[in-house]
Amino acid sequence: MIRNRAQSSVIVVGGGIVGVMTALQLQRRGESVTLIDRWEPGHARASSTDYNRVIRAISGRDEFYTRWARESRSRWLELQAESGQNLMYECGALILATEGHCDWEDSTSDTFDRVGVPYYRFSKQDIESRFPQFKVDDISYALFEPEAGMLMAHRCVITALGLFRQAGGVVRRGHVTTDKSERPMLDGAPLEADLIIISTGPWMADMFPRTIKPISTIVGVNVLYTSTPDGSEMFDMTHMPCWIDHGQGSFGLPSSEGSGVKAAVVIPDKIDLDNDERLIRQETLGRTRSYIERRFPGLVGERVVDSKFNQIILTPDTHFVLDWHPEHENVLFAGGCSGHLFKHAPIFAEYATGVGLKDFGTPDRFKVAGRRKLSPKESPSGR
Ligand SMILES: Cc1cc2nc3c(=O)[nH]c(=O)nc-3n(C[C@H](O)[C@H](O)[C@H](O)COP(=O)(O)OP(=O)(O)OC[C@H]3O[C@@H](n4cnc5c(N)ncnc54)[C@H](O)[C@@H]3O)c2cc1C
Repeated sequence: MIRNRAQSSVIVVGGGIVGVMTALQLQRRGESVTLIDRWEPGHARASSTDYNRVIRAISGRDEFYTRWARESRSRWLELQAESGQNLMYECGALILATEGHCDWEDSTSDTFDRVGVPYYRFSKQDIESRFPQFKVDDISYALFEPEAGMLMAHRCVITALGLFRQAGGVVRRGHVTTDKSERPMLDGAPLEADLIIISTGPWMADMFPRTIKPISTIVGVNVLYTSTPDGSEMFDMTHMPCWIDHGQGSFGLPSSEGSGVKAAVVIPDKIDLDNDERLIRQETLGRTRSYIERRFPGLVGERVVDSKFNQIILTPDTHFVLDWHPEHENVLFAGGCSGHLFKHAPIFAEYATGVGLKDFGTPDRFKVAGRRKLSPKESPSGR
């Protein structure tokens, strides 16, 4: 039972990447932290599951996330050096700008110039000669961010969890619920701690039906891994970058550590977080397959070798949530991933730690109140 303040001044609920990184930060700040999760951190229901995630600075005209992504990149590299684990591969990211729909990419180059993010602007011919894996007949140009790359997602979670334990943090299994006033409860009693951080990712919506649900949409995403051609390294991360293909609602990563090429077409699918199996949806599978064949002719005839079905929680403006519960003054929400939180996790966790310990407040963009849908031009995610 975690009811004694002397034993635990901070409780972090949820051990996805946000929870483990925040718990680690707080523990290293000298707090006594207990991390609680319903399942073993690293489990395959969480949004933070799977082999890898893209890390890139591109965020349209949004300087805030562009700077955060750059800062986070440094933190991931530091964590990699500290842990000796391969957490990040710097294979670059190619941002494809579709003919007639280049607003997000156009505004990104302005932001990159202002912030000082290294990038190249490639013509269609440049792309064809540098990255012949991509068929780009519908593409106007591409931005190439050489210092972008991939994070080994599951390994990142497990590594941060290991460091948290090493620092003296406690990891517990438990299902935190809420009462009518949305007070967090465990085993029928209120959770007691000086600070309670809620980092339950997409589960946050159902746990907080009055506060978080109204600003949340949960979307299931299918991901396919396709085998690389026999005897060829062309689709490995040594030869191919990650890519973002907003015109096709898609993104993906080259093969790493034998994974195969990962591609997702974001087709909003309903998901019951607790009851649905994490098996890809046959209805949407065809669209992902045909996208892969159209964009990568070299993969035609290759076989699907792995697949994942998982979920993201979207806020209307795609900004994260980092705000206090309106009635419970020690309860802080941290998450609201909107499909781009993994890469930012180290800085987000530092920020959440600062807000939680009252070093500073939270910016308007992260507040629960005042959310509105942004146009794709305004949105940091381009959606
Ligand atoms: C297919 C896909 C691709 C993505 N691609 C990228 C990408 O390329 N780059 C990027 O930056 N981001 C990407 N994202 C987004 C990123 O993965 C998420 O933003 C991030 O993983 C969210 O982490 P989290 O810790 O908030 O949530 P989660 O990882 O879902 O963790 C929440 C944890 O809370 C626990 N929990 C839930 N309810 C309770 C409860 N009541 N009591 C106790 N514990 C509870 C759960 O068991 C879980 O472990 C992608 C997401 C998906 C699904």
